[in-house]
Amino acid sequence: MNEFASNNLDLCESGGHQRERDLALLGGEPTVPSGRITPWPATQTEHLDALREVVDSGKYHRVNHPIVADLEQDLATWTGKWKVRAVGSGTAAIHIELDYFKGRGEQVVTAALNWPGAVGPIAISGLQPDFVDVDMNLAGIDQDAAADRFGPGVGAVLITHLFGNNIRVPDARSAARAEGIAVIDDVCQSIGAIKAIANGAYIDTDALALSGNGAKHLGAGELGFVITEDKDLIEHVDCVSLTSSSRNGDRTFSPSSAGYNYRPNVFSSSIAKMRLSNLETQLQIRRNNGKILWEMIRDLSGIFPLFDPSDCNQSMLSFPLRIEPEALGFGPGPTARDTIVKLLQAEGVPVLIWLRKPVFEYLPNIAKDWKAADFPNTVKLLDTMFCVSEIAPPNEAGVMELYAEAFHRVWTALSKFGPKISDIMTTV
Ligand SMILES: *Cc1c(COP(=O)(O)O)cnc(C)c1O
Repeated sequence: MNEFASNNLDLCESGGHQRERDLALLGGEPTVPSGRITPWPATQTEHLDALREVVDSGKYHRVNHPIVADLEQDLATWTGKWKVRAVGSGTAAIHIELDYFKGRGEQVVTAALNWPGAVGPIAISGLQPDFVDVDMNLAGIDQDAAADRFGPGVGAVLITHLFGNNIRVPDARSAARAEGIAVIDDVCQSIGAIKAIANGAYIDTDALALSGNGAKHLGAGELGFVITEDKDLIEHVDCVSLTSSSRNGDRTFSPSSAGYNYRPNVFSSSIAKMRLSNLETQLQIRRNNGKILWEMIRDLSGIFPLFDPSDCNQSMLSFPLRIEPEALGFGPGPTARDTIVKLLQAEGVPVLIWLRKPVFEYLPNIAKDWKAADFPNTVKLLDTMFCVSEIAPPNEAGVMELYAEAFHRVWTALSKFGPKISDIMTTV
């Protein structure tokens, strides 16, 4: 018996049916008191200093604003390897990178478990996605399935790193290299992947796309970054983004510009610059919180992390978990997960279901060309996974203990009632 399960299940007989009194969904006190959690981006009054610095600069725009240039330099230094150019969003960064490599072929191989915004730029670039299933142990692209698709017509492989996991997939990278296919890494959720993470080495890639949006590690509003060693790709940013530029002094007009105006927001850049100086600590606390939480819930039946929370190089944006419905007495499909999420949410735990469908079903122009049944791992994960968000500082171990207590309370009720818990929930 674990320490959290005691006293939480107080059953009483009333009118012949049992009522679970303690569960918050059934009217009990939520385990996590309201106001106890600080939601990301964890605003602080010192952020006003960052905003004031922009006001004091007397300039609110320009791609080469000194604050933006400093941020690019600081981030490049933090990576220890790459060149960096700030743009308007992570989506813009992916678009610019795909646009740069589009001459290599029309097809872009990517995972069916993906963020719609990551895949949208494939179409914006006039290219076609070619979806493959994910590896259950990564929630990232299945590297053998990807390599099977490589061939004439494939210009790029877009490797999406979700939830803070690192998708190393070395075999897919070398297979792509061997065929002249560009490797692009969407690390919008995994900022740590721009450092040396593969046994002390950097991931083998042509370009990384990072987001600085308010929900990500840099929590800066609207911002993104093109990250690469390729000087020409850095230059290409202006070709896609700007119709004219005075980056290097005199204003020049570019007749071939796509004119998307993917300029970085200077206020966001200033916030990002401030946060970058604390990024190591933030990552350390996120990893630590994830590890603490997992240690406290790992003995519950039928629950698994999507990646190893004790990996010291992951970036733990939110803590992704999945359940085995059968281990909890449920049939396959999303019912068990949906039930658990409702119960945990009522306890005040910030859990969310991230996506419910393979990415192509969110993209009306291509949805009809693909069938979910062809991507069994993707469907299985989408039916059984959920994320615990708010594991960033200033939330500390005490908050993780509350989350864990709520998990134990819910699991105790699950083991008592099994799938019937859904009936009890609907009659209350
Ligand atoms: C957030 C995100 C993006 C897009 O970044 P924005 O800055 O919001 O445009 C792309 N891919 C993934 C995986 C993301 O999480």
